[in-house]
Amino acid sequence: MRQSQLFTKTRREAPADEVSKNAQLLVRAGFVHKEMAGVYSYLPLGKKVLEKIERIVREEMDAIGGQEIRMATLHPSEPWKQTGAWDSVDVVFKLMSRTEKEYTIGQSEEEIVTPIARDYLVSYKDLPVALYQIGQKYRDELRAKSGIMRGREFTMKDMYSFHETQEDFDRFYALAKESYLKVYSRLGLVAKATEASGGAFTKKLSYEFMVLTEAGEDDILYCNHCSYCVNAEISDQKETDACTRCGKGSLARAKASEVGNIFDLGMKYSKDFSFTYKDREGKDQYPIMGCFGIGISRLMGVIVEAFGDEKGLVWPASIAPFSFHLVSLGKPGDEISKTADALYNDLVKAGAEVLYDDRDLRAGEKFAESDLLGIPKRIVVGKDAVATGVFEVVSRASGAVEKMLREKLF
Ligand code: ATP
Ligand code: MG
Repeated sequence: MRQSQLFTKTRREAPADEVSKNAQLLVRAGFVHKEMAGVYSYLPLGKKVLEKIERIVREEMDAIGGQEIRMATLHPSEPWKQTGAWDSVDVVFKLMSRTEKEYTIGQSEEEIVTPIARDYLVSYKDLPVALYQIGQKYRDELRAKSGIMRGREFTMKDMYSFHETQEDFDRFYALAKESYLKVYSRLGLVAKATEASGGAFTKKLSYEFMVLTEAGEDDILYCNHCSYCVNAEISDQKETDACTRCGKGSLARAKASEVGNIFDLGMKYSKDFSFTYKDREGKDQYPIMGCFGIGISRLMGVIVEAFGDEKGLVWPASIAPFSFHLVSLGKPGDEISKTADALYNDLVKAGAEVLYDDRDLRAGEKFAESDLLGIPKRIVVGKDAVATGVFEVVSRASGAVEKMLREKLF
């Protein structure tokens, strides 16, 4: 895409009311637009990043047999009253229609997915099944000061699985845990599978996936020797205590952000919705359910926090809005511009994702803006490139400069 056509512009100053680094940089770079605390619109560059994160999550969910659906966002209040969440879950938004009928909007979708599953899963032969969706969630969060990391509207991947036996649930749970770790590693993040409380419906532990960051709202204790990690909220251990798991390391405390979690729901929702299937003996049984969330937009914020520097955003290649930022230092119609135009056309033909800064601006201004946008590789077209056919390629993450012949760029 030609930058002269891109409708967003960058800003030098962060908005005064943004305290988080992720929102400051994303707003300055024109990736998102703030509507109110905790609610952002995603502009062309931001939408591209979000979609790339979604694609990675989708690929990994499909790989473990997840089937993608799109559930309704506007919900009747009845199923929420049936499970008790209408009164017990504090973040549920409650809407009233003009005929005084009550509704809510999705903050999680057990209340919708369980009746859907009940309509189709009638025999043990229909199990197991995992249904997932990627979409917007709405929560009446009290504090929304972490930019896109804690939204009142945000994007989540939520998956729900249905099983005949506890063994089958455990098998899928282990598979999902591995697939989550793959998602985070494809995003360039190291996430720790952290033991956490199972919540209201099970005495068992659940796993939260935590990325260490000062911008996080959780405190974790982790072993400096093995993979043991626990949410400080449920642990009676302290920092520097010996690790009880491996006996070798000691525990360190850190701030972290929860980028996903996986839960055993047991039969809570199957029972609430009288959802049974016929087992091998023809008897009615409640399926065991699991739920598996990933915070897609929170991940985007965590990535900004983890990699962004004093010059701006730094995107990992797997989710960058473009792979190359082609920066022309030419004036309209000169040799430099012609060389840059031709290179742009050839890169696009070769299938590369390129943002082409074809605007007539000073080099310093272009480079500062390029740093702010955070595209992984910057190709500079100046006098030297025209004379020698050798292009300077700058890595945004490391600052390393490579000189490359034109044909090596493809
Ligand atoms: P938290 O403790 O951070 O509020 P949660 O336990 O309420 O998270 P879930 O309901 O399990 O989270 O949602 C699944 C995932 O969605 C979380 O792991 C997190 O990554 C993400 N998420 C939850 N709430 C928000 C929010 N308000 N804004 C952005 N992402 C969120
Ligand atoms: Mg929450």
